[in-house]
Amino acid sequence: MKQRLRLGKISGIPLYVHWTFPLLIAYFVYDGMSRGMDTTELLWLVGFVLAIFGCVVLHELGHSLSARRYGIGTEDITLLPIGGVARLKSMPKQPWREIVVAVMGPMVNVAIATALFIYFLLTSQGIFDTIPEEADGLVIDQTNFLSWLFITNIGLVIFNCIPAFPMDGGRVLRGLLALRFRRVTATKIASYLGRAFAIVFAIFSFMPGGSPMLILIAIFIYVAASQEYYSVQTEEALEGKTVRDIMRTQFTLLPIDKGLNDITPYLTSTAEQGFLVVESTEEETDLRGIITRPTIIRALKYHKNKGHFLLKLLSRFRKVNDGFYIRELMNTRIEYVDPDFNLQQVYHQMTHQQTPVMPVYENGEVTGVVDYYQIREYVKLNG
Ligand SMILES: [Zn+2]
Repeated sequence: MKQRLRLGKISGIPLYVHWTFPLLIAYFVYDGMSRGMDTTELLWLVGFVLAIFGCVVLHELGHSLSARRYGIGTEDITLLPIGGVARLKSMPKQPWREIVVAVMGPMVNVAIATALFIYFLLTSQGIFDTIPEEADGLVIDQTNFLSWLFITNIGLVIFNCIPAFPMDGGRVLRGLLALRFRRVTATKIASYLGRAFAIVFAIFSFMPGGSPMLILIAIFIYVAASQEYYSVQTEEALEGKTVRDIMRTQFTLLPIDKGLNDITPYLTSTAEQGFLVVESTEEETDLRGIITRPTIIRALKYHKNKGHFLLKLLSRFRKVNDGFYIRELMNTRIEYVDPDFNLQQVYHQMTHQQTPVMPVYENGEVTGVVDYYQIREYVKLNG
């Protein structure tokens, strides 16, 4: 989701297109050219693809604006070659609200199709008259542009109604299940069904006539369904918990003046993924930073292979931290947590900052650490 281009704002929501999107347009142009289309035909084809994505933006706005009515904002809307994604800041917890937000996307396409249908009625033009029965691929011109737009919108509605969580139909399904079961159970069922659909889509994409787009959609659904189940599971398991419930009071302190030569005993004596780095004088020990196990291992590997030409080449393109001492490799940003802090929030913060440990501060001293991997284990056991 990272590499994307900002198009502007719509209803106060930033709109982006993913960098692969122009590739999709390029593909259509290439496909058209290989079928011997002239410039006018190519322009109609590209215009049609853009019009479809206009409909997709409106679809996503349907979700965003209905969520806004429930006080939920939208981070942004991103257009991917496989469709659009509106990232809501949260999901409505009440089942009916989730159902409404999910349904409002496809409803936009129903509205567009209805408007086109009325237009066809008023102009007494048959919708399918201009669509050739047999054609070598998609050919768009002024006579059939609206017909294809109508058909595609209907297609979007049908496709989105497939209960493949987290697609719209799957969200409706989760909402309906959540009316009867616990939210986490409802998500589990919807998520497994979503993954099953993803596998079916993947199989279909390899069948004759299958589209390579479908395999991308399948992967997207599979990953998103798993992630969302995991995040609901986490939410449930950590509900009402504080840092104190899970903090670890035994932890390894790494002296700041150690070099990589002396570090191996620390790595082998514990499985901890992150260490607090301290500087000690005769009177006191002060926390100076945090270092993660992967950082240490990367540094060890770097110094072992330093002379290798590939590494030299790589370091021209990527900034490499070639530090040898913990002091040079550690992260100096330290954020303390209180034992009474909400564990859900701390977990989110750790995920966001990609830090595996955070020091717990109480009565003027560090009494323990919160460990990211320990929280994940706890979620697995209790979710
Ligand atoms: Zn949708």
